[in-house]
Amino acid sequence: MQNPLSLSFSVTKLKGAGPKIAEKLAGLGIVCIQDLLFHLPYKYQDRTKITPIASLRLGMAVVVEAEVKAATVAFGRRRALLVKIQDGSGLLTLRFFHFSRAQQASLKTGHRIRCYGEVRMGPTGLEMVHPEYSAREEGDFPALENTLTPLYPSSEGLNQIRLRGLIEQALAILKAQAGLPEWLPANWLQEWRLPTLTQALFSLHHPISEQDVAMLLEGNHPAQSRLALEELLAHHLSLQQIRAQAKSHGAPAIKASEYLVPDLLAALPFKLTNAQLKVSGEISEDLAKPSPMMRLVQGDVGSGKTLVALVAALQAIEQGFQVALMAPTELLAEQHFRNMQQWCEPLDVSIDLLLGKSTKKQRDELLPKLADGSIQLITGTHALFQKGVDFGNLGLIIIDEQHRFGVQQRLSLKEKAINGNPHQLAMTATPIPRTLAMTAFADLDLSVIDELPPGRTPVVTASISQDKRDAVIARVFHAVQEGRQVYWVCTLIEESEDLQAEAAEASANRLAEALPHLRIGLLHGKLKPKDKSQLMNAFKAQELDILVATTVIEVGVDVPNASVMIIENPERLGLSQLHQLRGRVGRGTTESYCLLMYGHPLSEQGKQRLEVMRSTNDGFVIAEEDLKIRGPGEVLGTRQTGAIGFRVADIDRDQHWLEVVPELANKLMSEYPNHVDPIIKRWLFDAERFAQV
Ligand code: ADP
Ligand code: MG
Repeated sequence: MQNPLSLSFSVTKLKGAGPKIAEKLAGLGIVCIQDLLFHLPYKYQDRTKITPIASLRLGMAVVVEAEVKAATVAFGRRRALLVKIQDGSGLLTLRFFHFSRAQQASLKTGHRIRCYGEVRMGPTGLEMVHPEYSAREEGDFPALENTLTPLYPSSEGLNQIRLRGLIEQALAILKAQAGLPEWLPANWLQEWRLPTLTQALFSLHHPISEQDVAMLLEGNHPAQSRLALEELLAHHLSLQQIRAQAKSHGAPAIKASEYLVPDLLAALPFKLTNAQLKVSGEISEDLAKPSPMMRLVQGDVGSGKTLVALVAALQAIEQGFQVALMAPTELLAEQHFRNMQQWCEPLDVSIDLLLGKSTKKQRDELLPKLADGSIQLITGTHALFQKGVDFGNLGLIIIDEQHRFGVQQRLSLKEKAINGNPHQLAMTATPIPRTLAMTAFADLDLSVIDELPPGRTPVVTASISQDKRDAVIARVFHAVQEGRQVYWVCTLIEESEDLQAEAAEASANRLAEALPHLRIGLLHGKLKPKDKSQLMNAFKAQELDILVATTVIEVGVDVPNASVMIIENPERLGLSQLHQLRGRVGRGTTESYCLLMYGHPLSEQGKQRLEVMRSTNDGFVIAEEDLKIRGPGEVLGTRQTGAIGFRVADIDRDQHWLEVVPELANKLMSEYPNHVDPIIKRWLFDAERFAQV
């Protein structure tokens, strides 16, 4: 007898998985046979029964069996093959925009057809567009499916049938092995009425009972819920582990500032808000403990996070420690440097700047001073944490706009400290709903600056169609006449810098043509960092009237006189991103405007989203809406960085779990400690790697 396959074997051991297919599978995160079991359907099709045409309703996806009554080619706006079919209960139209002669021949009047598709409303009644079908002159069709047909996330060159075949093989092995080990305590499953992991996997891949079918089609099957719970637990546990590991190292206990912070506060032309004071207090207490601070400060754009960071930095500096402040872009790093410099110099605190673009000469001068501790506060980009940069006595790392960095990047920073772990302070302007924050940042303590400095006027937001571009340009002209400066933001979904730059250039040219007497600058990601900062400085110094830019200006840039922002194609961006962009205006005392210039066609959802932007300036409300509309990966801005991406869990559907997961995780750690590692391993391939960085 052959050796039986094991779930830990490579997928290449399965029938039909050659090297090409294995490569495609790897692209989907599937390497060993067990991974196939966790590759779950994203939806199901019901091809188990034939539905009479008379009972079709809009939006149903069904199998219909009928006779072809007529097939004609219509020449309307688009040429189409229209096939009328009848099953004795009613008539239905099938519409094909692309069709071959062979197809036309098979869809002749009198032929029988079985088709599967979604029912839509056409010009003459219900229809299916491009249904899957088979047609024949006579004889019976093969038997219908007897279970729901799962549809799996896939990629080009890997079809559903192949994927299904592989998953079936994996399920057969699972059966032969009598299931996977169960790591959720039996009494939990009982209490929550949840299936075991093995049962859950079978009912999701292979739904048989009518009850399963109904619940899956509705999206409320306990099997999904059960897997989501385990996955959320796995995430939470792994972050807790990272945190525990970090906390187990000692950190310098840094006592409260006696002179630097009081001197700074005395020199400020304004008072800190109560929210800033509260958060500074929380940070100060963390710093005073002998284990590393791991705190995330959330505050809407303009809430004054920079000062809170500076207060923390001064506390560390007063006790002889160095502080590194890292920003996600050079522009922002330079801005921090200039702002901080202005406060630090009178306090006799030495500050410097290190960027990727810093010259060799600058580095040669700077690096020794970092190594011997004579630079007390260093601002910069991730260049701060590259090889060859050594600190004498790094005590605190501050990460601005941390949602721009991946978990790995964040974790790799702590290696830099020489005396154990430094304290870590992260700041983000992305207001993250609380339950989501507890899930995504379970390794961090959370502080919220929930108050804006007084005297801000909210930005007035309106939306307008791109057809009215001329009217918009006229408004821009008037705004400039009134002495305002204007941001004109071009968005593109494509990640390509080239395309973004091109689109922005086209817009800038159009504006220059329409407004020949205005001074227009163009800022995009392809410019050299030096040119970027020159442009920004020129805009700040009011040497430019209009700054046309791609979304590179999104983060943290501060130009108080800019009080008008036009955003082209706002429908392409997430709400939180729009909110961040809009936060660039409304920084001065004059009333500010943001005009969302949408393209066509605007979907229902698109309209709804622009309405949210018009109706509120509250970042938290916007984040909640964003979460509902787009899902957590996008809200956290982590789709690119991969900090969090659930395979099964769905933040809306599984909201109730988010609230109990922290408590359940604690229970598991104390009552079933040996279940913790297996759960993490099962769900997070990268967990170990994460924990090691
Ligand atoms: P963000 O939270 O978006 O990073 P910043 O720290 O850049 O906000 O602050 C925005 C502006 O508000 C800055 O010009 C800053 O000097 C100013 N600011 C910060 N705190 C206060 C305060 N308590 N009162 C008045 N203005 C403040
Ligand atoms: Mg900021």
